[in-house]
Amino acid sequence: MKRTADVVVVGAGIIGSSIAYQLARHGVGRVVALDKGKGPAEGSTGASSSICRCRYTHPEVVRLAFHGQEAYGNWAEFTGLDQPRSGLQRVGVLWMMGESQDRVGSDADKLMGEGVKAEAIGPDDVTELFPSLSTCGVPFDLTGEIEHQCAPGEAFLYESLGGYAEPVGANQDLIEATRRLGGAVEFNSRVAEVLKENGRVTGVRLEDGTEISAELVVNAAGPWCNQLNAMAGAELCWTLTPTRIQTVYRSWPQDLGPVPVGADASTGIYFRPETGGQQVLVGSVLPEDEEEVIEDPDDYKRVPDASFTEIKLAAFHHRVPGLEARGGVSGVAGLYTINREDVHPVVGPSGVDGLWVANGFSGHGFKLAPSIGSLVAQAYTGASIEFDTDVPMSFLSVDREPIDVAVKNVLA
Ligand SMILES: Cc1cc2nc3c(=O)[nH]c(=O)nc-3n(C[C@H](O)[C@H](O)[C@H](O)COP(=O)(O)OP(=O)(O)OC[C@H]3O[C@@H](n4cnc5c(N)ncnc54)[C@H](O)[C@@H]3O)c2cc1C
Repeated sequence: MKRTADVVVVGAGIIGSSIAYQLARHGVGRVVALDKGKGPAEGSTGASSSICRCRYTHPEVVRLAFHGQEAYGNWAEFTGLDQPRSGLQRVGVLWMMGESQDRVGSDADKLMGEGVKAEAIGPDDVTELFPSLSTCGVPFDLTGEIEHQCAPGEAFLYESLGGYAEPVGANQDLIEATRRLGGAVEFNSRVAEVLKENGRVTGVRLEDGTEISAELVVNAAGPWCNQLNAMAGAELCWTLTPTRIQTVYRSWPQDLGPVPVGADASTGIYFRPETGGQQVLVGSVLPEDEEEVIEDPDDYKRVPDASFTEIKLAAFHHRVPGLEARGGVSGVAGLYTINREDVHPVVGPSGVDGLWVANGFSGHGFKLAPSIGSLVAQAYTGASIEFDTDVPMSFLSVDREPIDVAVKNVLA
């Protein structure tokens, strides 16, 4: 069978579905997103901690994150759905990084300069907002070899309008929103070949032989992106590695009060509420937990290791001293596609005519997704509309120099 589209998006995770929806919102009539999965969010998106925070090294990334947060924060309006499944839970983002008042104050100023609500708060403010959290600012040695004496941190950066959005629902919402605007999102549709004529990409062939020709093919294949780029003969000068990332969930007793999204440098963890506050999710911000490169994104261990679970829960107990040891524990492991050069994605023309990429999100892809769709749609249509980001796509282009980052990991 032969079909024709304006744009084919390969992958319908949070990035592909956002690109498809944004193209449809910008008036592109024939958008087709194809996914090899049986349903939404079978890739990185389904395992995402889906935290939406804005503190990043670069103002451009702050704005991409902020514009994404605005979309998630106004999700019904953004998607046009009366009853969306997801949307931003603005539980606040608290940075407990053991930093000085000066450092936190200057970072808060930088964020506010980009439009983000951010403030430097002290330990007493933290206790008032989140009574169960220890305000300790001293590094805690989890091996127990170095004796630890808790002492309050000097200052904490607080993004009161940040939070998280349930990722599978957000992915489903974008798919529904795309379809309502006439776009197609098709599952059980593995792209087996990228079609080319005279060196230009002209479409794709699916596993079942269907050919879809298009002016533009966008690679939004997440951890499988290298396979698709290879099919198209695109040789990116970036090392994009599917990397196993673990998270732990445990029950959260309601009498401990609210919990925000937290980044905790004393032990190298992050955390957030899960399932409406009945549980908490705990993950890692340590570079050593971003090293397990996976050869085949279809074949990796999808539950956390016992040692990871044990150590991260011990770290979380340091932050929440009143948390009883008993309680149900579970977790998931998913894949970040890490851009090893600068932990930022590459977005836009790939170097092969007719093929654009949106790859290498390195742990930031959920929060950036609405903005990434906006970049692609603005560049393809030349039109800017409500909720669009003002960051130029060239900031993330394939032919940029590596972005200079303060830390080369998920906190970049
Ligand atoms: C544990 C974990 C925690 C995270 N926490 C956060 C966070 O707190 N905040 C944040 O912003 N980000 C976070 N991320 C990162 C974020 O989830 C990812 O960057 C994002 O989900 C990537 O989306 P994607 O659409 O690119 O990839 P995916 O969701 O993997 O989607 C790619 C899709 O492409 C499809 N596909 C692949 N090859 C083909 C083919 N040949 N034909 C057809 N379809 C194909 C796949 O089936 C898949 O559905 C986290 C990720 C993980 C794993």
